[in-house]
Amino acid sequence: MNTTIRIVLFIGIVLSTALFHSAKAQNDKLPNVVILATGGTIAGSAASGTQAGYTSGQVGIQTMIDAVPGIKEIANVSGEQISNVGSQDMSIEIWLNLANRINELLESPEVDGVVITHGTDTQEETAYFLNLVIKSDKPVVTTGSMRPSTAVSAEGPLNLYNAVAVAANPKSKGRGVMVVMNDQIHSAQAVTKTNTTSVQTFMSPMQGLMGAVLYGKLEYYREPHGIHTTESIFSVDGLQTLPRVDIIYACADASADLIDLCVKAGAQGVVIAGVGNGNMTEAMLKAATKAVKSGVMVVRSTRVPTGYVLRNAEVNDDTYHTIASDELNAQKARVLLMLAIAAEKNIEQTQELFYTY
Ligand code: GLU
Repeated sequence: MNTTIRIVLFIGIVLSTALFHSAKAQNDKLPNVVILATGGTIAGSAASGTQAGYTSGQVGIQTMIDAVPGIKEIANVSGEQISNVGSQDMSIEIWLNLANRINELLESPEVDGVVITHGTDTQEETAYFLNLVIKSDKPVVTTGSMRPSTAVSAEGPLNLYNAVAVAANPKSKGRGVMVVMNDQIHSAQAVTKTNTTSVQTFMSPMQGLMGAVLYGKLEYYREPHGIHTTESIFSVDGLQTLPRVDIIYACADASADLIDLCVKAGAQGVVIAGVGNGNMTEAMLKAATKAVKSGVMVVRSTRVPTGYVLRNAEVNDDTYHTIASDELNAQKARVLLMLAIAAEKNIEQTQELFYTY
């Protein structure tokens, strides 16, 4: 090898080493965010960009990450597939796997935040469940989309970008689990799905937005309400499943049958999606009283989209030994009741949990 070639080779090695180190240094400056994919419309696909019908949970995590330009400039992202289901099929088994995996990841100093991609149908339930059992103050964010990945104007990639930006931001620490959709940041405790098809479906009707995120730039307006994550008494340690709790929808002239049936089927708790302020027909109230006497916990929630269910309003909870759901809708009341029963809380203690979580 002549001297000129040696010099060129030497310069090449020095330059590539320097470039490698500067690229690494740049990556080292970025937060590490793990994306856990569970399925849903964000991973859904259809045969055409404009058809209403599609199949949830078709696209894998790496394809989703690759579809988001610029995501690798805001965080070092890695992905794991936890499940790939439409969230109508979200299960307690997946919840427990997810919660255990998140707790494990967040224990590592290498992980700064976690994003979960999820169908929108039951996203509020998963987010609230995680809000109660994650043992870290690092950011945990759920996101999804209303339009499948193949749709014209699919909003999933921007939602995922914004969710990663929220999870990567140190300002997001200690805020409990958050739901990021359509430029908005919601608290898991407050958020609910309000529209079957619109991109603007998630709202926090009682408490308002926690913050906003626009192309990754975010601002918080308020602190979360209710006990969550590191302060929560609940844990998934050692849990293999959760007790059965059913939701019964009240309506004019409803019979006692459904309450009787679910108790017979082994429910340990029943949540009534009552009319108005957690009311129900006389027949339902009689069945509920019978259920309570047999050791089943009964929570009065409401089918009305907003408002509190107050203790001892039209139904005297002191007399019937029922529990008022306070601010929780029926689907979140079920999550809290399942965890309360698993933690062997009695009626009075469970009522207190509904006031504080
Ligand atoms: N059923 C779907 C799901 O929850 C549709 C909702 C969505 O993801 O937008 O997975």
